[in-house]
Amino acid sequence: MIQTQAKLTTEPLAARAPDETATPLMAQYLAIKAHHPNALLFFRLGDFYELFFEDAVQASRALDITLTRRGQLNGQDIPMCGVPFHSYEGYMARLIRQGFHVAICEQIEDPAEAKKRGGKSIVNRDVVRIVTPGTVTEESLLDARASNILACISKIRTDYAIAWVDLANAQPMTEKTDATGVNACLARLSPSEILISDKTTEEPELFETLAQWRGQLSILPAGRFNTDNAAERLRTLYNTTELNVFGDFSHANISALGTLIDYILLTQKCDLSHFDRPRLVSDSPYMLMDPATRRNLEITQTLSGQKQGSLISVIDHTQTSAGGRLLASRLNAPLADVIQINHRLIAVEFFTSHTGLRKNLIRELSHIPDLERALARLALGRGGPRDLSAVAITLSHAEKIRSLLLASPEHKSCTHIHDAVQGLGQFAALIERLQQALADNLPLLARDGGFIARGFSAQLDGLLELRDNSRQLIANLQASYAQESGVSLLKIKHNQVIGYYIEVTAAHAQKLFDRKDIFIHRQSMANAARFTTVELSELERKITEAASKALAVELAIYEDLVKDITALLPDLRRCAGSLAILDVETSLAELALTHRLVKPVVDDSKAFAIAKGRHLVVEQALKAGSIPTEFVGNNCDLGDASRLWLLTGPNMAGKSTFLRQNALIAILAQTGSFVPAESAHIGLVTRLFSRVGAADDLARGQSTFMVEMVETAAILNQADDRSLVILDEIGRGTATYDGLSIAWATLEHLHDVNRARTLFATHYHELTQLAGRLDHLACATMKIKEWKNEVIFLHEVIAGTADRSYGIHVAQMAGLPRAVISRADEILKHLESASTQKNVPTVDNLPLFAHHLSESKRTPEESPILKEIQSLNPDELTPRAALDLLYKLKKMSKD
Ligand code: ATP
Repeated sequence: MIQTQAKLTTEPLAARAPDETATPLMAQYLAIKAHHPNALLFFRLGDFYELFFEDAVQASRALDITLTRRGQLNGQDIPMCGVPFHSYEGYMARLIRQGFHVAICEQIEDPAEAKKRGGKSIVNRDVVRIVTPGTVTEESLLDARASNILACISKIRTDYAIAWVDLANAQPMTEKTDATGVNACLARLSPSEILISDKTTEEPELFETLAQWRGQLSILPAGRFNTDNAAERLRTLYNTTELNVFGDFSHANISALGTLIDYILLTQKCDLSHFDRPRLVSDSPYMLMDPATRRNLEITQTLSGQKQGSLISVIDHTQTSAGGRLLASRLNAPLADVIQINHRLIAVEFFTSHTGLRKNLIRELSHIPDLERALARLALGRGGPRDLSAVAITLSHAEKIRSLLLASPEHKSCTHIHDAVQGLGQFAALIERLQQALADNLPLLARDGGFIARGFSAQLDGLLELRDNSRQLIANLQASYAQESGVSLLKIKHNQVIGYYIEVTAAHAQKLFDRKDIFIHRQSMANAARFTTVELSELERKITEAASKALAVELAIYEDLVKDITALLPDLRRCAGSLAILDVETSLAELALTHRLVKPVVDDSKAFAIAKGRHLVVEQALKAGSIPTEFVGNNCDLGDASRLWLLTGPNMAGKSTFLRQNALIAILAQTGSFVPAESAHIGLVTRLFSRVGAADDLARGQSTFMVEMVETAAILNQADDRSLVILDEIGRGTATYDGLSIAWATLEHLHDVNRARTLFATHYHELTQLAGRLDHLACATMKIKEWKNEVIFLHEVIAGTADRSYGIHVAQMAGLPRAVISRADEILKHLESASTQKNVPTVDNLPLFAHHLSESKRTPEESPILKEIQSLNPDELTPRAALDLLYKLKKMSKD
């Protein structure tokens, strides 16, 4: 069974069941902790969340904070550590990132209530939320430009299904699939957390997949996936008796969806009535790409895990976080539906030709906060005044965007934009209410108060006036007391413990003691004395009362505003979605113009004709280099006559770049983006495979060659005539002839059986001989120029074959020692002449060994040892003479 990486509490709590030595507080802690053995329990005590026992040990280590102790249990110290309540989010973020789940335990009653039960009663506490990687909503815990997906895999009999949701858009989705599809689907979604049953983790067909997602797994008991319970959960949430109204769900779909909902309810402990109806993703509307292909093509991150240098880092010009997330999810899931792709392409085209409108929209979008996530927090009861303001700001910009688009009615011919404009909706009343209600400077939390603007509520204004007037009164009091006592430096101050008080230095204290009719002594310190008066106490009571009444009114207004918003939630979500779409389309149009991209023709044919295609990331890198260089555009035509290109050419000539750029062009086109080329005609690619470069996957226990073969096997087993296959350097990680044979057979199989559009780069020049035998194979090579013993790479792909790889030249460029380079040259010449004489090189005639002739290879004339051995007759030797001879030979070998 797969083990999760999460550092979960392991020691059974039963071992420390409360005994008579446990204080009431500790007994309460243990009872709550027993229900949450797999999460770190943040136990609220005053201004801190405290952790105890193993939780404290693990958290102090993970957060690098001090481990202390608090009392004893069963005669042993109780380890403890804590994080301040006011800044716990940062600590929690670090724990979540390390794979922990955190259960937040709060006081759930007023301490006054507890007191009524008797002096020693402690306040009731309970877990109000369990924070897990897939359920966080706090801005500080999330990457603004990446979706945060919670997924659930279910297997019922032989069927698999995946369900998933991003709490930010509350739209549950589900897909039917098989074991291989699970891998592709997870790669597409890139979930932060994956729910799976302990039984399913034991499926051998999922072993490889789950190993890759080990860090994201949350393993639940198989019973939680029960289909009947799951169906009941969904029926209750959606208030329906018939689930099939949502789509043709399989048992596995229902189990996955129901378990997902169940998990959210269990961890979030909140109402999910704002959740949209679940949607069934129909059969393969997306281009299928396995995880290896995504990794190799560096779509959203580079092979080393960086965003910088990936395709998205170059093409993401979106203005909003939601736009950035939409673009990333589109890139992760290019479409496999010609009509939908063209709708998107037409939208980009519209914005490329409406420059004024595009610029205006981009300007409006640049001011828009993250409406989607603000709505999610408000709906889950975790919002604050700034979320209300995010709604107001976004909606007023959405209004402007809507009017800008309505002023260009041509957009109606473009379905995608027209739908987005409809989706923007109209919220004039809500905008007005929010704008009137909210003050200029907003606190993060509603409980801090001060976020409702003056003039919005007469009741609030009255209370605030009282509070503020009272403050003025205090200032007046200070002046009059100073006069009455004759202490001009008398001050009225405030602190949390004793409230308002009058303070004078010790030297002047007597003057106030002398006026006992006014001043009442409260505290004396070394340098100062503190007093109060009846008047001051009365004023203080009024101020505190006014402040708490004002806060209560503010909180009531806040709740009303949240209700106004949640009542419009589906429309507001549609508005957020439409803004994200407009952001993506305008940004892609901007990209197309700034990076010279063209609209591709995407249809149902099997064409793949790219004129002067470019690799956007390499192009940018070349431009930004110390000597800016132009990228050389290259053609690629994988039409039926030449659907398999065999590309040979020197190292460093640009083969890998050419292969990748064509795969990326297919992805961009089917994402709905223009592409870096002079023209492009792409027949729908339903599956994309790429095997580029070699990397050990030590974490999965696979060697370089094994990884290469696993990836090649996946291609040969799955690619069909609608696929695009990119193969770079098959068979390099093993012995020359094994590798050549594998590459050869792979090429034949791709040509005869898979019939996929394929680009195959190799240094096995022998393979070009296949051109005569395989009808649809075309040979291409990288053009170079030899000049004064130098090789110049022209980076141009031309028809033909290469006869050399110029590897030694590249090694020289890389700085290998001169002696090694000249020796390599010598060996190469020898090997080449051996092969032209049809004298296949063997280990014996490799010059490598000739260079260091060993003793055994010398002739008898040259070797005294050999001469000695040849001259002896073993049959004539006595044991003693044989032994002497051995000593003699040993001595000779040393001379
Ligand atoms: P090897 O066989 O050693 O793996 P390769 O032929 O695959 O090499 P690439 O890695 O694709 O070569 O390219 C090497 C470098 O050449 C790139 O990093 C880039 O700087 C430059 N290059 C590649 N293609 C082009 C191009 N079309 N125009 C300009 N420069 C290019």
